[in-house]
Amino acid sequence: MANEVTGGLSGRTALVTGAGGGIGAACARRLAAAGAHVLVVDRDGDAAGKVAAGIGGTAVVADLGEPGFAERLPADVDIVVNNAGFQHVAPIEEFPPEVFSTMLRVMVEAPFLIARRVLPGMYAREWGRFVNISSVHGLRASPYKSAYTTAKHALEGLSKTIALEGGPHGVTSTCVNPGYVRTRLVEDQIADQARAHGIDPGKVVEDIMLRPAAIKRLIEPEEVAELVAYLCGPGGSFITGVSLPLDGGWTAR
Ligand code: NAD
Repeated sequence: MANEVTGGLSGRTALVTGAGGGIGAACARRLAAAGAHVLVVDRDGDAAGKVAAGIGGTAVVADLGEPGFAERLPADVDIVVNNAGFQHVAPIEEFPPEVFSTMLRVMVEAPFLIARRVLPGMYAREWGRFVNISSVHGLRASPYKSAYTTAKHALEGLSKTIALEGGPHGVTSTCVNPGYVRTRLVEDQIADQARAHGIDPGKVVEDIMLRPAAIKRLIEPEEVAELVAYLCGPGGSFITGVSLPLDGGWTAR
């Protein structure tokens, strides 16, 4: 197993946003295990520092919602995992407009600004990989998630555009579309989902989150990271402009 994961990405630099925890931290660890030097980007400096220290990476403290953050990121990277994100659950008529706008800034504008910064270097080196952590909500809507669904659908459009522009330069761009993953983002929305749907919090995972999937369990962050590593490795070289659900059958409906 060790031989399978090491080597494929040695000499590559990977920038992973939101890598202080959850899926991002799992991606950072997995890409480092494949040999990449990982830039662990997060607004939580302590969390980024801990992950970076564990993998011999570099912590970069940045809030993707702040103006000018992209200019402070290193420009010479080979791999970008656009992962940072958050959730807010509320009916549209109660949804705070400032939260809607921050979500689009962090989850759509920031990936655009990062692409704008790193693409010239990738084109010069004729190699690059973008993996965009979208969601089933990049392909399907859910009630009470207007900003999240809108942001993830927009990320799908950006990913396809990077794929078309980057293809002739050796750059691929894909979306990975998980269902519910066992992270803080999911734990933190249980109370809000219960309130919005008018059900008991103890029933949210079974009745709301797992209801549309054929396989009734949460996904582990490491399972998402495994697909991300595949897309960044040699096997991913012809996979571009597409979206790959990791959703236990949710989008088969
Ligand atoms: P998480 O809350 O566990 O981790 C998110 C990380 O992003 C945190 O370390 C946080 O500090 C960082 N972050 C948030 N806003 C930031 C900002 N403005 N600037 C810099 N860093 C910021 O969340 P997660 O579940 O690991 O989610 C990661 C990505 O995966 C998100 O884009 C999310 O939409 C997507 N996703 C999650 C699930 C799920 O069920 N957990 C499912 C599908 C897609």
